[in-house]
Amino acid sequence: MKIKALAMGSIGTNCYVISDDAGTAAIIDCDGDPRPLFFYISENKLNPTHILLTHGHYDHIGAVEAVKEQYGCKVVAGKDELRVLTDPEVNCSLFGGTAIAVMPDEFVSDGDTVTVGEMNFQVLFTPGHTEGSLCYLIEDIIFSGDTLFQGSCGRTDLPTGDWSTILRSLKLLRDLPGDYTVYSGHGPSTTLEIERCSNPYM
Ligand SMILES: [Zn+2]
Repeated sequence: MKIKALAMGSIGTNCYVISDDAGTAAIIDCDGDPRPLFFYISENKLNPTHILLTHGHYDHIGAVEAVKEQYGCKVVAGKDELRVLTDPEVNCSLFGGTAIAVMPDEFVSDGDTVTVGEMNFQVLFTPGHTEGSLCYLIEDIIFSGDTLFQGSCGRTDLPTGDWSTILRSLKLLRDLPGDYTVYSGHGPSTTLEIERCSNPYM
């Protein structure tokens, strides 16, 4: 399994490309100009079959339509995130001047597994940053979206955000057994153990 992080879009949101040995790939979140992503995929001869969304904010979904059109990927999102994904006011795209709405092909819930090639992504429901935010777990890796950052956590002052709810989700992550590498929606990667020891919100 190979992981590539690309900072994309107006605020450099992390877009992750996770591929198996056969080249089948999942894309986690994608914003902005998709050309760096297309370049990486073609350079590595990958076949992206799924876009896995951690949540529906504009800076995580801005390139979904272009990527879907290019590869015919299936778009997967949390079942409670529909309002954020489809309402430009709720996903904050309207404030940037371009209304964005994404309709997923498949909704997932806590405990579901999304199989992409030889890879199995486990869905963890972690609301709070938005009402339907998810983390995806695979092997000893967590893709945490905007729920958990290195030394911090996602804001909860945007539509559908809730402070006490994200604290519960962070506790859920804290209490996972063992250690994980954490790839966040923004900023550098970290580990769960580092965050357990040093992140004030955990
Ligand atoms: Zn967000």
